[in-house]
Amino acid sequence: MIETQPSCTDIFESGLMPCSDALRRIMARLPHISGYERISLQNACGRTLHEPVISHINVPPHTNSAVDGYAFYAEDIPNSNTTELNVIGQALAGKPFRGNIPKVACVRIMTGAELPAGPDVVAMQEHVRIYENRIEIDNRHKRGQNIRLVGEDLKCGETVLQPGKWLTPADIGLMASLGITEINVNRKLKVAIASTGDELCEPGDLTSPGGIYDSNRYSLIAALTRPDIEIINLGIIPDNAEKLLEAFNQAGRFADMILSTGGVSVGEADFTKSVLQHSGQVEFWKVAIKPGRPLAFGQIDKAVFFGLPGNPVAVLVTFYYFVLPAIEQMLSITGKPVAPTLKARVSENLRKKPGRTEIQRGILSRDEKGDWLVATTGKQGSGILRSMSLANAFIVLDHETGNVKAGDWVTVQPFAGFL
Ligand code: AMP
Ligand code: MG
Repeated sequence: MIETQPSCTDIFESGLMPCSDALRRIMARLPHISGYERISLQNACGRTLHEPVISHINVPPHTNSAVDGYAFYAEDIPNSNTTELNVIGQALAGKPFRGNIPKVACVRIMTGAELPAGPDVVAMQEHVRIYENRIEIDNRHKRGQNIRLVGEDLKCGETVLQPGKWLTPADIGLMASLGITEINVNRKLKVAIASTGDELCEPGDLTSPGGIYDSNRYSLIAALTRPDIEIINLGIIPDNAEKLLEAFNQAGRFADMILSTGGVSVGEADFTKSVLQHSGQVEFWKVAIKPGRPLAFGQIDKAVFFGLPGNPVAVLVTFYYFVLPAIEQMLSITGKPVAPTLKARVSENLRKKPGRTEIQRGILSRDEKGDWLVATTGKQGSGILRSMSLANAFIVLDHETGNVKAGDWVTVQPFAGFL
């Protein structure tokens, strides 16, 4: 019998770092980027706020009506039966009524119109009987009803958004309601992306014999196309230690993060780890995750370095589980919508070895009762990108889990809110 080396077919392979440890070590090493830029509010969705936003006005700026109806004095509300009020004018949004309102009278008022001085209740027009120049009200009305108070949304002097807030459409509207036109946001993260491999050709070019098209850089660029990231495309780098060294060293001088794919295994042409060792620091390079076991993490010059695997599914899985949290921490993002995780019943048996986290690709749906159901997308090889393209969710089988039987509950992460 030949004495074998540790490999991905072993149940317990030495030197593999559990997923949660790897993520913890990554997060502990990351710098927060400093620096900010002033941008127009219209371009700020998806950026991260650099400083607190303080309200310098009240929103709404004056007490106003929440409905279309009639404004009058609460003391005119009858105890029983009904009473009549003369309509002596009207208040529209943006066109206030400035006259005096005597007792036993009312003003026609529209939604958003400033409440005139005096009245302290608004009745919906649907709740009164309307005659030519007067209305009849009953005793159902209460003081303060249908009135929006000055500053009830935002008070002057109040901090309305904190630094680190990842800006959503609602935040943009909120700042617009304060009259803000420009804000300071954290600067963009500069991410350099390289594909490594002698076999790789650019889509559009002819493939050489034995060649394949580079898909990893395209998946990654697509995943990183967002308002807070500046992508630096380093192209395809051959399996040549000097060329890799040159490209990574150069990128390390201006990028905040370098992402390379391929060349991190133990093959004859896998140089990424040795280049990282030579030129920077390697924190670890093997993680107990499938797909994605060869994952190098370290630093080159100013840049955080991720040597992602070469297999296209492994690239995306390690991107979502390790790189994305790292990016968001470096950008100091704190307030961001959470990606949901849920439990679903799996519709087939799943083979799983304890001792590593497995991220299978699934199709999440609901059964007749409305319970979550998940099936795999078929063949789960780490080179089968279609397994990811067909999926709408990850099936997460954690470190200790063994084989799973059809009908068991598994953890699922829908892509919605995650990708
Ligand atoms: P490696 O880790 O370099 O041995 O690559 C593992 C597998 O992924 C090999 O089959 C490579 O051909 C493939 N691969 C590496 N890089 C890419 C890429 N950029 N696009 C598509 N496939 C790739
Ligand atoms: Mg390779």
